[in-house]
Amino acid sequence: MPLAGGGIGVHHREDRARALESLLDEVTSCRKCPRLVSWREQVARERRLAYRDEVYWGRPVPGFGDLDASIVVVGLAPAAHGGNRTGRIFTGDRSGDWLFRALWRAGLANQAESRERGDGLTLSGAYVTAVLRCAPPGNRPSTGERDRCLPYLERELGLLSEARVVVALGGFAYAALARMYGVRPRPSFGHGREVEVPGSQDVKTILCSFHPSQQNTFTGRLTEGMLDQIFERARDLAGQGKAGFTG
Ligand code: SF4
Repeated sequence: MPLAGGGIGVHHREDRARALESLLDEVTSCRKCPRLVSWREQVARERRLAYRDEVYWGRPVPGFGDLDASIVVVGLAPAAHGGNRTGRIFTGDRSGDWLFRALWRAGLANQAESRERGDGLTLSGAYVTAVLRCAPPGNRPSTGERDRCLPYLERELGLLSEARVVVALGGFAYAALARMYGVRPRPSFGHGREVEVPGSQDVKTILCSFHPSQQNTFTGRLTEGMLDQIFERARDLAGQGKAGFTG
């Protein structure tokens, strides 16, 4: 169902902050998808050799960033040994290294590194989240899993009432967002494609980008320059000036 303008009707900043905190608490205790619950917990028990001394998060991973963000970045799901290990989205894996470096270069993050919760990373004007909150085996969630988790993203975006641009990292995130916003017919996905969100919703544009997965970055399908162009364009579309971190 398309999002209504103004999300769930929580307009005051303090109320939004409280509602977002409560939503994120709800997300982190969710067990609605038996297959994903089992996988995220198995990965957390078995661990990768390089992280064998760490305690994995092993739970759904909430969104992260600025409550007043005008740019929201949406990925597919936490990585098994990234967000599922550290408890913060896009944190502790190579995709996250790429993403947060780009946000830092764009003046949307105070530092280029995202290693763990509590590492001092702060976003200004940006918020990062994902369609699914649990790591799926092989990065392949089922349609049912996507549909069970999508209401969390819908509610989260409703509370981020300053959001004007949603950057969809990859075709999966784009398709989920287009479905959520009622974009019909849905233009095909392409790097740099801009899709207008219909109606009087707060978010005006979905901006598509190739996902900074290793498959894309190792092969040169996505370069740092290409990602920089995305965030430069996102800032333009969001009407952001040069405010934010100057890195
Ligand atoms: S993927 Fe989403 S809906 Fe499914 S268990 Fe995780 S948080 Fe809950």
